[in-house]
Amino acid sequence: MRPLVFAANWKMHVGPPEAREYLRAFFAAGEIPHERAVWFFPPAVSLEAVAQNVAGHRNVVAGAQDIYWEAKGAFTGAISAPLAAQAGARMTLIGHSERRHVFGETDEQTGEKLAAALAANLQPVLCVGETLAQREAGETTAVVTRQLVAAFAGHSGKRHVTIAYEPVWAIGTGRNATPKDAAEVHRAIRGWLKGNAPAVVPFVILYGGSVNLKNAAELLAEHELDGVLVGGASLDPRGWAQLVRTAVA
Ligand code: PEP
Repeated sequence: MRPLVFAANWKMHVGPPEAREYLRAFFAAGEIPHERAVWFFPPAVSLEAVAQNVAGHRNVVAGAQDIYWEAKGAFTGAISAPLAAQAGARMTLIGHSERRHVFGETDEQTGEKLAAALAANLQPVLCVGETLAQREAGETTAVVTRQLVAAFAGHSGKRHVTIAYEPVWAIGTGRNATPKDAAEVHRAIRGWLKGNAPAVVPFVILYGGSVNLKNAAELLAEHELDGVLVGGASLDPRGWAQLVRTAVA
């Protein structure tokens, strides 16, 4: 069986007591299958509760949903990579489409954040993806490439980075990319990384956008997908426990 990653983005849901209760229900389904990894991205206030409650469970880690690029200082409301690491984060999302499109984060800022994550030994999960208008204009590869170029600008050292291909039109809409469409973009990302960021080892590419119990098996049967990043369908612990055990052909 090939290794697969199941990443849960709780967005602005699940406070600390709810997180503890969630994990109790999630782990009641048993340990994670050997070849699978589960990454939880809770809101910052719940990071420590999640990190503490996944400790000791094989292949399960906690990560931040976002970080600021400065390490410390007068940045009210922001969370730095070292602070997230202190709370128990092992990784962090960077450039999630809601950061880009709701909060106006730029490509250049994702580059700053990627560098800050690596400096604090947090594994970055860089999210890239096109809007519906960009897809319809045939600009998908150009947009994703632009996002990769900006994020990796100036970084040449050896490092572990995960990419999440998340078409904006598929996030939270109930409309997922087809396995074939996702695979096409994953191949383009793999090609770009091999040619332009060969020190990124190993690179795992996740698909995200309306993944759920109904479509996970079909999506994961496509070998270009190394796993999934899931929002809405990760909020129910029992459903998520089932999803991470999806049988894949
Ligand atoms: C996400 O938040 O990254 C995401 C993919 O959300 P959803 O699964 O709800 O589309």
